[in-house]
Amino acid sequence: MPAKTTAQSGVDTGSTQEPLLSVKGVQKIYQVDAGEIEAVRDLTFDLRPGELACLVGPSGSGKTTLLKCIAGLMGATAGEVVLSGKPVNGPPKEMAVVFQEYGRSLFPWMSVRDNVELPLKNAKVAKAERNRLVDEALEAVGLDHVPRSYPWQLSGGMQQRVAIARAVAYQPKVLLMDEPFAAVDAQTRADLEDLIRDVWERLGITILFVTHDIDESVYLGERVIILSSSPTVIQEDIQIDLPDERDQLTTRSSARFTELRGHVYEQIQIAKHNTGASAPSNAAGGSPSTVAREEAE
Ligand code: ADP
Ligand code: MG
Repeated sequence: MPAKTTAQSGVDTGSTQEPLLSVKGVQKIYQVDAGEIEAVRDLTFDLRPGELACLVGPSGSGKTTLLKCIAGLMGATAGEVVLSGKPVNGPPKEMAVVFQEYGRSLFPWMSVRDNVELPLKNAKVAKAERNRLVDEALEAVGLDHVPRSYPWQLSGGMQQRVAIARAVAYQPKVLLMDEPFAAVDAQTRADLEDLIRDVWERLGITILFVTHDIDESVYLGERVIILSSSPTVIQEDIQIDLPDERDQLTTRSSARFTELRGHVYEQIQIAKHNTGASAPSNAAGGSPSTVAREEAE
C-alpha cells in the first residue's frame, strides 16, 4: 500500500467529511501538429474541506495542465472534476487561482486596492463589505501600508502578495496556486510560504499548492501528492505529520522534515524514470513512520 492515504484506492483517511473537490480519472491529451501529447494520463484524488495539499512533480509532469482542468479553464479529455458535488464545466465561482506569472495577472493601471477589489465588484458584493474584505486581505498579506501604490511600483514579492490578497479577499472555498513563488528570491519565498500557512490557518480555506520544489511541498503541506513524469499518474500520496506550528528554522532543521523530504526526493527520482506507461510505484510505500524506518536502515 502507498503511504497512509490514497484517494486513488478510495481508502478512508479517517475523516468522515465529504470531499470538497474530487478529481476523478482526469486525462488530458493535447492535439498538436505532430500528433497527440498525453500530458495527464489518469489522476484521481479528493480534497477535504480545509486541507492544504501540495502537488509536486518534475517539470513537464502536467501540473499546470491538471490545475487548468481543475479550475475549469480547460476541458479534460476524459474523467471529471467535481466541486461541492457539482461537475466543473467552467471556472467555478467558489475557486480562485494564483498563477506563477503574477506580473501578467495584475492590472498595471489599477492601484493595489482596486486590483484586490475587482473580483468582489464583479461578484456584486456591496461596497461596505468589499471595503472590509479588501482591508482584511491587505492586512493579512502585510500590504495595508501601500493600498494606493500601483503594481509596477512594487517588488516582485509584493506583487505576488497582491495576487494572493486578491484571491483571499474573494473568499474562495478552494484556492489553487501554480508555482506561485518560483520567480521570487529565496528570502521572499520563505516569507510568502509562511504567509500561505498563516492565511490557511486563519481563514480555513482549502488549498491545492503546486510546486516542483520538494522542500517547499513538505514545509507547506499537510499532505503531499507526488506526480509521475508525463503521461502523469499519482506516484504517491502522503500525509505530512509535522507539527501545525511551522517555522523556517526549527521545522526545516528537524529530523522528521529531513526524513520526509528525503522520502519525497526519492519518489521524485523514481517518478522521473517512471512515466504513466507503467503502474505507479509503491517502492517506498508504508506509513511515514515505516518510511522513516526504511530510510534509517
Ligand atoms: P508542468 O506544469 O508540470 O511543468 P505542463 O502541464 O505545463 O507541466 O505540461 C505537461 C506536458 O504537456 C508537457 O509535455 C508540455 O509540453 C505539454 N503541454 C502543455 N501545454 C500544452 C499545450 N497547450 N499544447 C500542447 N502541449 C502542451
Ligand atoms: Mg507548470
